[in-house]
Amino acid sequence: MLILISDAFDASLPGRLEKYGEVTDDKGRLTEAEVVLIRSKTKVTKEYVDSAPKLKLVIRGGVGLDNVDIPYANSKGVAVHNTADASSVAVAELAFALMIALPNHITRADSTMREQNWAKKELKRNELLGKTLAVLGFGRIGSALASRAKAFGMKVLGYDPYVYFSDFAEINNDLDDVLGQADYISMHMPLLDSTKGIINKDTLSKCKDGVYIINTGRGKCVIEEDLAAALKSGKVAGYGNDVWYSDPPDWSSPILSAPNCVFAPHIGASTKENMGRIGVMIDSIIGAYVANK
Ligand code: NAD
Repeated sequence: MLILISDAFDASLPGRLEKYGEVTDDKGRLTEAEVVLIRSKTKVTKEYVDSAPKLKLVIRGGVGLDNVDIPYANSKGVAVHNTADASSVAVAELAFALMIALPNHITRADSTMREQNWAKKELKRNELLGKTLAVLGFGRIGSALASRAKAFGMKVLGYDPYVYFSDFAEINNDLDDVLGQADYISMHMPLLDSTKGIINKDTLSKCKDGVYIINTGRGKCVIEEDLAAALKSGKVAGYGNDVWYSDPPDWSSPILSAPNCVFAPHIGASTKENMGRIGVMIDSIIGAYVANK
């Protein structure tokens, strides 16, 4: 059995998987591969599946499966798994880091000091204590963020059409009402028809003036032109973003020149600990596949 590691994983992974067969990172050997391991870079399209005649199993290290044509893969007898539980803490901690960085002007404080500019009077901070956080998409990552926000004394609202109760948040499925109450909005939805462009001119108009938005979910859940305009006008006080229309983004994206933003290059899942957990899960998924052959 040939296992093709198509994207970046922990360096220990090939050694861990050698017990199942040959392991390679040579993408030119896709035609021989029975198992392919991907993250977000490899796109498992119809063409990809058709060019892999021996393929039986695709494992996406991470959560989002929007880079895999699951119905087509399944129709060709290819099973698709992810490692959904592994990444929740890693992504929630990055969302929290962005939520702290924005009202504390961490990047501006750092850059002005490096420019020998003493900006003490300009950099007025805001506290999280007592503020309302709206978590859009209250699944694994959203609820991990909510529990952390509670520890900081925030009120948490969860917006998720498929969730009815949480110990950490008041669930409210009236989006306009949630947006109207929020001082902070953190986005944790998968990319679906129902979530694509959900932050747009219309929904932004329902938000409080001076709201902060954090997106570690999916870039295309935001209409970038609308959000950039809201940042320029001050309607949105700040945007913390890890996810883009593409990896890397089009460098002319209007978000990249908008004010009061903190950016990251899609590193939500990229903790050492998460990469270790993903390796353990991939090992057990392949183990079960081999046992059931
Ligand atoms: P999850 O499946 O546990 O949670 C997603 C939640 O979104 C679910 O509870 C679902 O009911 C909800 N949802 C579905 N449609 C919705 C809608 N229209 N409106 C509001 N909520 C809706 O997934 P998770 O592990 O919490 O991951 C969430 C997303 O985070 C992933 O789909 C992925 O896009 C993103 N992610 C990003 C990174 C990163 O590196 N930044 C890493 C992992 C995951």
